[in-house]
Amino acid sequence: MKINGVRTFLMQAGAAGGASFASSRNWLFVKIDTDEGITGIGECSGWPRVVETAVKDLAVLLIGEDPRDIERLWQKLYVGQMGHGMTGTVGTGAIAGLEMALWDIKGKALGTPVWNLLGGKTRGRVRLYGHANTPGKALSLKERGYTAIKAGGVAGTVAKVAALREAVGTAMDIMVDLHGPPWLTPADAIAMGKALAPYGLLFLEDPVPPDNLDAYARVREALDVPLAAGERWGTIWGAAPLIERGLVDVIQPDTGRFGGLSQMRKLAAIAEAHHVMVAPHSGSLGPVAEFAALHLLAAIPNALMLERLEDDWPERNKVITAPPVIEAGHMLVPDAPGLGVDIDEDVVARYPSTRNVGDATGQYEPGTEREHVYVQARLHRARAFVAKPGAKTE
Ligand SMILES: [Mg+2]
Repeated sequence: MKINGVRTFLMQAGAAGGASFASSRNWLFVKIDTDEGITGIGECSGWPRVVETAVKDLAVLLIGEDPRDIERLWQKLYVGQMGHGMTGTVGTGAIAGLEMALWDIKGKALGTPVWNLLGGKTRGRVRLYGHANTPGKALSLKERGYTAIKAGGVAGTVAKVAALREAVGTAMDIMVDLHGPPWLTPADAIAMGKALAPYGLLFLEDPVPPDNLDAYARVREALDVPLAAGERWGTIWGAAPLIERGLVDVIQPDTGRFGGLSQMRKLAAIAEAHHVMVAPHSGSLGPVAEFAALHLLAAIPNALMLERLEDDWPERNKVITAPPVIEAGHMLVPDAPGLGVDIDEDVVARYPSTRNVGDATGQYEPGTEREHVYVQARLHRARAFVAKPGAKTE
């Protein structure tokens, strides 16, 4: 079997021109064609409009190759990026989608689901968690069978989590993502973690910028709250130090930009060796990467759960030919050959990419985030740490 074509499908997820995060995402799907008529599908994230160019650049390395040689082709694609610096998520995002498509081809060729190629099934369904910042949203997810929710942000977070815990009791796990803001110092992250400790978090995510491992170590040393990180990294070499230095309890590779399922499988093994659980990041991903994550989590022993923006965009399920099956807050692992998912190319074509997820809208304002400077230690300290009288949490 030989690869004879690579195609890309870039789209705008959400209403074009909208200002919210959900409406400013691009999704990038790739298809790899073969001379035997089998086509594989994958999805890349990271910086999709740029990744699309990277995919096209890398495609020449795949033409004429046997798509079943996944490890060898992964190495070829990675070495092909040496002149570009190798470590960026644009490159690993491109490889992630291409490599995902190779697994899909292999599964289809053998008539078996990808989870079977990854070692077989450890579980038939994967626990999901949704995003909830209000008791109302938390209870609506609980009604739908969800058993875990994640709140986000730093300002007002302790009061928010208190309200969430009061609403859901012990029926749901609660996580908090501080998003690693560069203005949050380790001392302040520790104070926040201590204030959150009584609410029994399943994990605290990115309490400090994840590119500062020494700051992570300081937070780790001071807190008894489980920590999570990993969404910004590509490849095992980027994420492994978080695990090997004992900095996290949960590792969160992004299925669209970590470099592919084989990289995630290897990371899961490193994590397993340190009793660390895997909970893939899925905040900006489309439905194909979600299916890929499902196969990985079906196979690995140390799967914690999968992130899901349940209500991000009503058209989400129309982009694929068959939506994932969700029952009682769990996604069922598909049994179809390959990944068991395909895009509807006509639907994708209806939503051409119109804007970049990284649009830095707004005026320049010194002393605020609109100064657009990455390292702004203590910028929002009062807002985050001084309780407002009568602050609303709903
Ligand atoms: Mg996060």
